[in-house]
Amino acid sequence: MLERVKRKLWGGGISMKVPLFFLFLLIGFFPMYILGRLTDRSLRQTQVDSRVMEVQNQCLIISNKMSRSGYMSGDARDSSVDVELDTIADIFSGRIVVINRNFKVIKDTFRLAEGRTHVAEEVIRCFQGESGSRFEKDKRYFALAVPIYDNTEEKNIEGVLVATASTENLTGMAERVSEKGAFFQLMAFWVILLASAALVTILMGPFGSLQKVMNRVADGNLDQVISENAYKETRQLSTAIQNTLTKLKTVDRSRDEFVSNVSHELKTPITSIRVLADSLMSMDQAPVELYREFMTDISDEIDRESKIIDDLLSLVKMDKSVAELNVVQLDINGLVQQILKRLRPIARKRNVELILESIREVTADVDEVKLSLALSNLVENAVKYNVEDGWVRVTVDADHKFFYVKVSDSGIGIPEEFQEQVFERFYRVDKARSRETGGTGLGLAITRKVILMHHGAVRLVSKEGEGSTFMVRIPLNYIPGNRNIPQDNT
Ligand code: ADP
Repeated sequence: MLERVKRKLWGGGISMKVPLFFLFLLIGFFPMYILGRLTDRSLRQTQVDSRVMEVQNQCLIISNKMSRSGYMSGDARDSSVDVELDTIADIFSGRIVVINRNFKVIKDTFRLAEGRTHVAEEVIRCFQGESGSRFEKDKRYFALAVPIYDNTEEKNIEGVLVATASTENLTGMAERVSEKGAFFQLMAFWVILLASAALVTILMGPFGSLQKVMNRVADGNLDQVISENAYKETRQLSTAIQNTLTKLKTVDRSRDEFVSNVSHELKTPITSIRVLADSLMSMDQAPVELYREFMTDISDEIDRESKIIDDLLSLVKMDKSVAELNVVQLDINGLVQQILKRLRPIARKRNVELILESIREVTADVDEVKLSLALSNLVENAVKYNVEDGWVRVTVDADHKFFYVKVSDSGIGIPEEFQEQVFERFYRVDKARSRETGGTGLGLAITRKVILMHHGAVRLVSKEGEGSTFMVRIPLNYIPGNRNIPQDNT
């Protein structure tokens, strides 16, 4: 769901640079922003606190003076105290109100409330013995209550001095400071923004270079050296890509080789035909027997050409999907018997004895046509690459999971160094002998392909001059898509 939304928003992918950029921006700017806000707030608080202290000190001094002069009790008020109250109120641009025990205002520096009753929270608390202050943040002023004691030893509270002052000019100053801070933060934001963009570009650089090399590869240039070692990840990616490229190159090379082999193989009979036809044409009065002989050779070459084409077509067909296997339950012993029967005439020509050894009766799920072709190739090779009066022994056996077909011969054998290559397309140990016997070099490639399609394996044991044994192992039950069975050793 989230994936779908993302794809909708960003058209299937967003550059890694974007989240990285925002991350750097956040890490760089966020702490600075928080610090700025905190400093700003504590600066305002400190300013107000110190102003409150200052006013409180002044008020304490004057309240002491009022106590000493009996300001609250005396009939005639000391006018110098009044003047002083006015001066102090002026200095901190505030207002001072003196209240007696009856909550009556007896002095107001603003001359507005004299004679009126003034009952406020801080006044009541002050009469109760707690001096207090109140800070109205929104209304931008503070009120401070200071007790005025009488002149006696008991120090009774006779009145309260309430000073109210504006914090406007203080916060104004704090605001100026915070404006400067905001400007600084804005500057810092742009610097961090540019630094984040630069950092992201530098950090993502190696991935960009990898992308460039990959684009060149995509253009068909497979000879790229990919070694981006800036990070462990890019190094691992480079190695993986380099390995893939090496494999691609191998496939590319083997395809080229195959195409050149195919053209060569197909050209050989055509060249022979051309030579035969040309030599016949160059003769003025060729005898009929010669014509017949040359025409027989031409016909043989045509047969050979068509066999190569047939074999190639079989291989190409098998390169397609495994689903094309036409699997049926089949009597394997019967199948092998049929193959031997078909090949007996060829074997007889060379006086090679064909022996069938059925250790167990086997029925298995196989593609009859393809398996018959694969096993025929093995038996045919065993006859072809045999010696006069030799033998070929085919053994059929099975266990609870697999059936085994072993084709042994008393033939010329295959030297150890060629044993892997004989399964490759067009590979022949002795080209001349293979041609002589009508081989195309594709037989074993076809055999191995068919066995692998059946999820089986084929193994070769051979000794030069003594003979060869091809061992085939195929699962009794064919399970489509089952590839867990080891494929290259029996
Ligand atoms: P070909 O059409 O030449 O027989 P194959 O693919 O069937 O092609 O075999 C490849 C090569 O392997 C043969 O040319 C031959 O040299 C060798 N070979 C195959 N089977 C045998 C065998 N039973 N004994 C000796 N050599 C063999």
